[in-house]
Amino acid sequence: MKNFKVIVIGAGHAGIEAGLACARMGVKTLVLTLDIATIGRMSCNPAIGGVGKGQLVKDLDALGGAMAVAADACAIQFRILNSSRGAAVQSSRAQIDMRKYSLYMQKLLLHQKNLTVVEAEALKLIIKDQKIKGVITDQGEICCECAVICPGTFLDGLMHVGLKHFSGGRINERACVKLADNLKELGFNVLRFKTGTCPRLDKNTIDYRNLIRQDGDLSPKPFSFSTKKVNRKQVPCFITYTNKKTHSIIRANLDRSPLYSGKIKSTGVRYCPSIEDKIVKFADKERHQVFLEPQGLGVNDIYPNGISTSLPEDVQLKLLHSIAGLEKAKIIRFGYGIEHLVVEPTQLYPTLETKLIRNLYLAGQINGTTGYEEAAAQGLVAGVNAALRVKNKEPLILDRASSYIGVLIDDLTTKGTLEPYRMFTSRVEYRLIIREDNADLRLSRLGFDLGSLGRKDYRRVEKKLQGIKEGRVFLKHTRVKPAESINAKLARLNCPALKHAVTLEDLLKRPQINIRQLAKIQKLKSGIPESAWQQVEIEVKYAGFIQRQYRDVESFKHLEKIKLPADLEYSGLSGLSREIREKLAKFKPLNLGQASRISGVTPAAISMLMVYLRKARG
Ligand SMILES: Cc1cc2nc3c(=O)[nH]c(=O)nc-3n(C[C@H](O)[C@H](O)[C@H](O)COP(=O)(O)OP(=O)(O)OC[C@H]3O[C@@H](n4cnc5c(N)ncnc54)[C@H](O)[C@@H]3O)c2cc1C
Repeated sequence: MKNFKVIVIGAGHAGIEAGLACARMGVKTLVLTLDIATIGRMSCNPAIGGVGKGQLVKDLDALGGAMAVAADACAIQFRILNSSRGAAVQSSRAQIDMRKYSLYMQKLLLHQKNLTVVEAEALKLIIKDQKIKGVITDQGEICCECAVICPGTFLDGLMHVGLKHFSGGRINERACVKLADNLKELGFNVLRFKTGTCPRLDKNTIDYRNLIRQDGDLSPKPFSFSTKKVNRKQVPCFITYTNKKTHSIIRANLDRSPLYSGKIKSTGVRYCPSIEDKIVKFADKERHQVFLEPQGLGVNDIYPNGISTSLPEDVQLKLLHSIAGLEKAKIIRFGYGIEHLVVEPTQLYPTLETKLIRNLYLAGQINGTTGYEEAAAQGLVAGVNAALRVKNKEPLILDRASSYIGVLIDDLTTKGTLEPYRMFTSRVEYRLIIREDNADLRLSRLGFDLGSLGRKDYRRVEKKLQGIKEGRVFLKHTRVKPAESINAKLARLNCPALKHAVTLEDLLKRPQINIRQLAKIQKLKSGIPESAWQQVEIEVKYAGFIQRQYRDVESFKHLEKIKLPADLEYSGLSGLSREIREKLAKFKPLNLGQASRISGVTPAAISMLMVYLRKARG
């Protein structure tokens, strides 16, 4: 029997990051996939990032993940969303050449030291004394110390087009039923969720003449902190809209929709509903936006973002042809819906290890999330923790004040989810200090210490930190005196004239002046990277808000630091209600902070637990 330290099941977005993290940390790792050619395949939209998701990718990059670097290598359009708003809610998004992305990830995995990739289906887990010992595959048995399961939508997947349904994990790929059955037999509580995708169109059959063109940003900002610049021609997307005719076609055919005829019973994605869902739930809306997004260079496929559907083929054609610009559009592939098995994520510790089986970790869509970014973020955390367990080291737990990844995992493991979970900036309490632009400052030291981030990348972060320090000192101690030339420059920016000498920091605090304009008023210290000056600007301009948020974080951390013993017998705590005792026993929170976020656990219960812990300590 072959032997690996860690086996990762699945080479989607979660499996890639899990496998790479383990291998980069020096652990002998095996990645199992149904098909090597589908490594890193984007099942749905040809884009990475977006509101809340861009932040996840930056966090991941800061910890040494691969997604951001791959996105930079394969993007065909870059945009910063919410660019007119504050730094706290700005998010990167890139349109991706899907084929190139998958090839890029294949190459990365196949050439990674300590990593073996094998085409095989995992059928069953080998468990002894509630601990993982290996995996039975269709090619034989393989031993391991830890396993990370990342099977995406493949677990007992059931695909729907109109009233037809068939087993499948994704279009033209088989479902994995045996592994799904095995997880149920092992005692995991499972749910079924639903997602769906839109038809793909032939770009040569679309009439773009009256559509709105959407270009990428003029000076594209790369995703990864390690990418210096992207010098590539960007490709535009186009915008069109559904209309009354489209809506009446859909309404007239709802009885043939698997969603509305009762065929699909699972819960779908609230924030990315199918077009039939939009027409029913937002009946008063006269039109819905459709973005026509190219799936890559050198291919004809266009992804009509906004019209995911599982309606029958003839209805898909009819509704498309009712939309401006798509009157003669040819469908390359029809849209479909898919139901799949999900493991209730409250059965996991924040390390993503299962509470039921030791050394077994779950990551990605299996935990109830939707999206490449959510999957990748969990993959890295699960992979790092599997590697740390092999090395007998303390686990990695990212809390809500550290990162978007911390919020994602805390939400899943303490609150759970009854519908596909997607990340948003609004889920993050401390978003003034957890931003895209400072992910490297927050997390790269951790990535470097863990071994998931390389030395060269960490050196760059150290340089940036040094630059921020020097920049802050320079602005604090450099004064400008009132002078005609300076006041003329200020007037051009609608700024009051100087009456007495002020520091550059004072000038930067003025709402009309940003760091670039400041540099035109007074030459700034040289040798400091632009990314450091950007941080200096944010720190100076938002100083009051940032300080306040750090104080909030301090009180949050107070509860997080109070550990709850793993063997605590909640049933014996008479002051707590039966419901709370049962919930605490089921969730096994690691600390009081986590306990306080379990739904139904009251502040009074937390106070009682605090008193109990104090007494127990003596
Ligand atoms: C039809 C459809 C529509 C979607 N729509 C959206 C959307 O609108 N918005 C959105 O954000 N996300 C959407 N998604 C979800 C998105 O694709 C996933 O969230 C993301 O890909 C999950 O990543 P993952 O790594 O968990 O799994 P996947 O990317 O699905 O990868 C799973 C991997 O596991 C492998 N595998 C599975 N079982 C086994 C086994 N037993 N043995 C060996 N290998 C195995 C597969 O070969 C594959 O490599 C959609 C997905 C589908 C299929």
